[in-house]
Amino acid sequence: MSTGLETTGLTKSFGGVRAVDGATVAFRHGKVNALIGPNGSGKTTFFNCVTGMIKPDSGTASYHGRDITGRPPHRIARAGIGRSFQLCRIFPRMTALENLLVPVRSRTLLGRLVSARQRADLDRARELLTRVGIEHLADVQARDLSYGQQKLLELAGVLMADPETVLLDEPAGGVNPALIERIRELVRALNAEGRTFLIVEHNMDLVMSLSDHVVVFDRGRPIAAGTPDEVRNDPRVLEAYLGI
Ligand code: ADP
Repeated sequence: MSTGLETTGLTKSFGGVRAVDGATVAFRHGKVNALIGPNGSGKTTFFNCVTGMIKPDSGTASYHGRDITGRPPHRIARAGIGRSFQLCRIFPRMTALENLLVPVRSRTLLGRLVSARQRADLDRARELLTRVGIEHLADVQARDLSYGQQKLLELAGVLMADPETVLLDEPAGGVNPALIERIRELVRALNAEGRTFLIVEHNMDLVMSLSDHVVVFDRGRPIAAGTPDEVRNDPRVLEAYLGI
């Protein structure tokens, strides 16, 4: 088994609340991993800690054995980890295509962009819009896309950086069933091409049908991990969810 993203004893408190409480987790590299758990169990905080959005108080995060604890988001992105956000991060008044080129613009400011590169980025942006199925909306302002289309745009944005590992925060949240189906197929296809996924998601049907490995959080740490069938029948998981 190959390991990519791992944490040891990761801890983060807000005031008196231990949002993440000594979480030791190993995700399966090359697979679709899911992180599930009741509301408030620390999933988002865990995500934010491993992607550098917030610094953990203690513990470590590593990627392919290299310490990434507390590194800023752009360094973690450069290491090969891309992420989406629970509430889409897009620029509403820019077109779908322009949204994909935003990080490229900031590179222009640094003077590192040559026109050949610019063309390559434009080609890639168009290719990714096609890949997620919204190429016909390339010139539409992002605010005029449906919420599900915005989620697909955000996924295309994450893929612009060609990350080896993709973290998705509630990809199906607020999305209609047809687009959930498209997201499911996209994740499957991208995984088959070698991309690792780590997904925080409440839609159990999506989680169970898509994941190879499920980690269940309760009160800031994993209480169970395994295949969908294994966690589904685990009494600790039922207890965490149903309080029985
Ligand atoms: P989940 O994503 O599983 O719903 P969160 O990581 O959002 O869980 O939250 C875990 C706990 O940490 C909750 O009790 C939440 O209220 C608390 N929490 C999360 N972020 C903050 C914050 N920025 N300030 C204070 N408390 C927070």
